[in-house]
Amino acid sequence: MQASRARLEREVVCPFCALLCDDLEVAVEGERLAVRDKGCARAREAFARPLPEDRRPRLRGEPVPLEAAAGRAAELLGSAGLPLFAGLEADLAGLRAVVALAERTGGVVDPMTGEGARAQLRAVQRSGWVAGTLAEARNRPDLVLLVGDGWRAAAPRLFERVLAPAARLDERPRRLLQLGGAPPREPEIEHLPCPEAALAEQVALLRALLRDRPVAAPESLRALADAIRTASYRLLLWATESLPAPAVLVHHLAALSRELNARGRAVALPLASSPGPVTARQLLLWQTGVPDPVGFADGAPEQDPVRWAGERLSAEKAADLLVWIDASGFRPPPVVSVPAVLLIRAGIDPPFVPEVLIPIATPGLDHPGDLYRTDTVVALRARGLRRTALPSAAEVLAAIAGALPDPAR
Ligand code: SF4
Repeated sequence: MQASRARLEREVVCPFCALLCDDLEVAVEGERLAVRDKGCARAREAFARPLPEDRRPRLRGEPVPLEAAAGRAAELLGSAGLPLFAGLEADLAGLRAVVALAERTGGVVDPMTGEGARAQLRAVQRSGWVAGTLAEARNRPDLVLLVGDGWRAAAPRLFERVLAPAARLDERPRRLLQLGGAPPREPEIEHLPCPEAALAEQVALLRALLRDRPVAAPESLRALADAIRTASYRLLLWATESLPAPAVLVHHLAALSRELNARGRAVALPLASSPGPVTARQLLLWQTGVPDPVGFADGAPEQDPVRWAGERLSAEKAADLLVWIDASGFRPPPVVSVPAVLLIRAGIDPPFVPEVLIPIATPGLDHPGDLYRTDTVVALRARGLRRTALPSAAEVLAAIAGALPDPAR
């Protein structure tokens, strides 16, 4: 028997965080993938995760053909009063299929990424901010203020690719400061200790100092205000999903990004953890005109962060069916007491036995797919690296849509 030989794929897009690094080198040998260069620990683990032998869909834990699983999912959707489509970790084609199905069945679309993402949206809708891009963040700022330390988990290669890259267009010295969080391991980052619970208050104080208000503030915060005042290109960066008290904190950060532009330049760059919800928001905006969470219960798409919040709909059982999509294995589905249809990365064990479980392919590994980066200005095409018999999220959702009973069709 002839041994299969590994081939090396270069400039591979990594789909395992919303930074979407596009420089990985990955060895492909049959179904086995191994990151050989550039990937972080998360990417190495996620690319190398083996596929299970048994990839069959399941109904209440029992293996069935895909047609049977899709048929049962369609039955559940056809009889649901308010299905909730959540998770939303898929590529653009998969998310298009989600939105189409939600529209047909009068459902709700909410990625359920938490209060930080909603606070961010509120700040944009109510007062706006000056948003930056990853390219700008990499090349331009002479001062970067990291708020909290969530950036490290949200985008493991942020330091190497954006904060301190080997080369920048603007080569003026750059100062990196982190307010709060654990002390950074990189000596280039100055640490300003701040308890998590006090972050919002400290940013509010910082804002007051920068507006020359007569406030009582610690010397370290005054020194930070002076550094921000004298810098010419300031970047404020935080991880959306890990901010404490995000409603207040994001409000102050957004205001700071606007106010600093009165003198010099300043931009804000919130980091999302995964590309699916970023892609879903872009898709909803151009397709329905409104961002998530969106409800189609009344026919027309309606955005309402309270009425259509997935967490609340689940807790109150107002949503009577959960359809959870996670093609990359980012997050476990919430444990719910209503029937659930799970479309999740093959090899991931859900925390409960759902009514329907369909293992699906991962975009960027098992099939090509378009994903939006955290700064929302660039969609990258992640290519497929291996052949598996796994269906994509879009294919499964199309099968479910095809089996929907009338009049939901
Ligand atoms: S930082 Fe994110 S996109 Fe880059 S290799 Fe790690 S997980 Fe992948």
